[in-house]
Amino acid sequence: MSSISKPLLQWFDQHGRTQLPWQIGEKSHANIYHVWLSEIMLQQTQVSTVIDYFNNFIHHFPSLAILADASEDSVLAQWAGLGYYARARNLHKSAKIIMQDYQGVFPASIEQVVALPGVGESTAGAILSISHNQNHAILDGNVKRVLSRYHQVKGHYGQAQTLKKLWVLARQHTPNMRNNDYTQAIMDLGATLCTRSNPGCGRCPIQQGCQAYQHNTQTEYPNPKPKKNKPSRRTAMLVYQNKQGQIYLEKRPVKGIWGGLWSFVECENNPQEINRTIHKFNAKACINRTLDPIKHSFTHYHLTINPVIVDCPEQTFGFQPINQLKVGVPTPVNKILAQLD
Ligand code: SF4
Repeated sequence: MSSISKPLLQWFDQHGRTQLPWQIGEKSHANIYHVWLSEIMLQQTQVSTVIDYFNNFIHHFPSLAILADASEDSVLAQWAGLGYYARARNLHKSAKIIMQDYQGVFPASIEQVVALPGVGESTAGAILSISHNQNHAILDGNVKRVLSRYHQVKGHYGQAQTLKKLWVLARQHTPNMRNNDYTQAIMDLGATLCTRSNPGCGRCPIQQGCQAYQHNTQTEYPNPKPKKNKPSRRTAMLVYQNKQGQIYLEKRPVKGIWGGLWSFVECENNPQEINRTIHKFNAKACINRTLDPIKHSFTHYHLTINPVIVDCPEQTFGFQPINQLKVGVPTPVNKILAQLD
């Protein structure tokens, strides 16, 4: 066993998390659909945020077969607000592939799981380790942080060389026995003790061998991403409203931000372009009012949205009742909808 797996497993037996919604039931018969869904939701998202989304998603799509049969819009509607929507579209695509190519049985080989849309090596390893106790290493955000500190790994893990180093270490530490528990244990350690700020080193089961702890350099690892200033952009969102109080939404292209979600018509944020776009949509349309700008940040840029409410007389085609939307909308669109009468 590596220097960390034994103390980590001992710690896990006492302090590991065992009551997360996707862990309910016999460990030896983990529901692979639940494990898969949780691993996809947990990419770039914390457990505390995921729990409600997970429970709601399972309520709407209780099995892989039901998910495969659902429309993409209904899947995105349950994902709305969780962000990184390609994850939901890939999950849906994967469910269809599993029904078609694997007769509805989730594949059990790492090559087959990695081949599913949206599943990388770490996610595939975690799914098969947790649900089948297969011997795979994982390297999610928590594990990257723990190993970067434990070994004082220089460089940001966005750099290929650093990532390669971390994978080597992850594999070295992964035990052959109790692989499922180890996978859960190292994720739990990163989530509950070796946290981004103020790590609980005093209670950490692997502090003895931890280089960052020995040198008091925990805050330096993982090394931060080289800084780049995020650009800022502006857009106008045209909120077309008809006399019945319904609003017009259009489905966004699959590629790009909020892919596949439904949103307001957008145009450049200047008066000429706004007027041109409005009159192209409906010659009799006129601006009713504007709302306060909404700020939203993506990984690569900050966006300021100027919502413009537009009255569209005599128009109903494509309009939807605000209170009965059955499609997924991005968070800023929800914020705008909440301000409408
Ligand atoms: S000793 Fe501290 S820095 Fe090192 S692994 Fe444990 S919690 Fe993280």
